[in-house]
Amino acid sequence: MHTSNPVLDPEHVDPPANSAFPPIPSLTEPSTFNQPKTDHRTLRRDEFWRDVPAYEKATSAEFGDHKWQQRHTVTSVKQLRETLGSRVTEAFFEDLEAGIAHAPMALRISPYLLALIDWSAPMADPIRTQFLPLRSQQQADHPMLRFDSLNEREDSPVAGLTHRYPDKALFLPQPSCPVYCRFCTRSYAVGNDTDVIEKMKLPATAARWEEAFAYIASQPQLEDIVISGGDTYNLSAGHIETIGRRLLGMPNIRRIRFATKGLCVLPQKILTDNAWLDALTGVVELGRKLHKDVVVHTHFNHANEITGFTADALGRMTERGIHVRCQTVLQHGVNDSIDAMTLLVRRLSFINVHPYYVYVHDMVPGVEDLRTPLHVAQKLERHVRGATAGFNTPSFVLDAPGGGGKRDVHTADVYDRETGISVFTAPSVKAGRKFLFFDPISSLGSDWQRRWTQPAERRAMIDDALARADA
Ligand SMILES: *Cc1c(COP(=O)(O)O)cnc(C)c1O
Ligand code: SF4
Repeated sequence: MHTSNPVLDPEHVDPPANSAFPPIPSLTEPSTFNQPKTDHRTLRRDEFWRDVPAYEKATSAEFGDHKWQQRHTVTSVKQLRETLGSRVTEAFFEDLEAGIAHAPMALRISPYLLALIDWSAPMADPIRTQFLPLRSQQQADHPMLRFDSLNEREDSPVAGLTHRYPDKALFLPQPSCPVYCRFCTRSYAVGNDTDVIEKMKLPATAARWEEAFAYIASQPQLEDIVISGGDTYNLSAGHIETIGRRLLGMPNIRRIRFATKGLCVLPQKILTDNAWLDALTGVVELGRKLHKDVVVHTHFNHANEITGFTADALGRMTERGIHVRCQTVLQHGVNDSIDAMTLLVRRLSFINVHPYYVYVHDMVPGVEDLRTPLHVAQKLERHVRGATAGFNTPSFVLDAPGGGGKRDVHTADVYDRETGISVFTAPSVKAGRKFLFFDPISSLGSDWQRRWTQPAERRAMIDDALARADA
């Protein structure tokens, strides 16, 4: 299974498995982290997991099986210690324990992702950065940050259904995921309670789903439903069929999208959970018969997350005519360099995943160290556009805090790089309102950083930005 597709066999395209990854020439900026540089076509097919003490003896059949992956999912520091043993220092585990105590998301990571972390240099590793919070790297939240920064609960006519845009809505059928990302925008609802947050409860009950279906059917202008995180991977085959058939059966609904992080964290499921993939394929085929559009939306943030397993999984989906788009989150130290973002976009395109969006990191609690200033997104967009096919070029957007929806990063009405304040408007979503976004304080000059510590100065900086937006 693992090397079954000759087109994607490394022998046919690039150096054989286990060879050193060849460096690619740097674009215009030196890379900011010390990952091995890989050409976008060079996908790992070595037995990389054998470097992790607990997986040393796992065969490729075991490591390639989704049930084995699920059984070995790590959800506590104790388990992580047992898995990694002496591969990392005691100081690292202590840093992690303290980080988790201050984090909005519980710990949950698949063996596959864990084994892709470079454990000889975990501090700077882009996968470690996304899933394992370290106290030594956390920063104070921005003073303007609010819980549920996107205001999803305010735009929810039914618990777990966000209807913000005229013709599309977001349905959260259940609250769990195959992993928990540190930076989850829905940390208010997704995952287990943590020391920091008691979650809103969105259980997968028939009553709540029926309420959501009834609402969707009652809104003739709704055409497009996103079935989102919690994760489609955590819905059973039967649930996928129920949701798919119910939605496609409504005359107003023309498009549905199943959102899953799964392709990134557990591509093995696509290769070995046939009942699940058949259910998804069935809904896609039903959509085709009804002349409706059913696609999968996924979430990769770094080229290291894409391996031979991913290519094989996407190969299987392509054979079945399942289209996949990717929504990436821009993160400091993960993908905020030109090299990293360009490589990710090319590698996604290579395995038939269409890069759709790159989101500026939302203002969510506990992850200030991952946020980037708006100008970084603007710069990356200029460099990525033109690097490959236009239909594989993502839109760089900011989901405006307060419920303004997604706005192109180049369309701020005002952007003051000194205060880090930008002002957006969203005439088709919430006409007449202004939406503010704030660059991380640590990205500002020291004089401006000091001004942000004073409430009166804050107010003056914000009033000034709003007045300029009116001018
Ligand atoms: C992102 C989002 C959608 C889908 O928006 P697209 O730009 O079409 O991908 C729908 N509803 C809500 C609330 C969203 O946040
Ligand atoms: S997979 Fe998506 S919904 Fe789940 S924790 Fe990660 S970002 Fe949040």
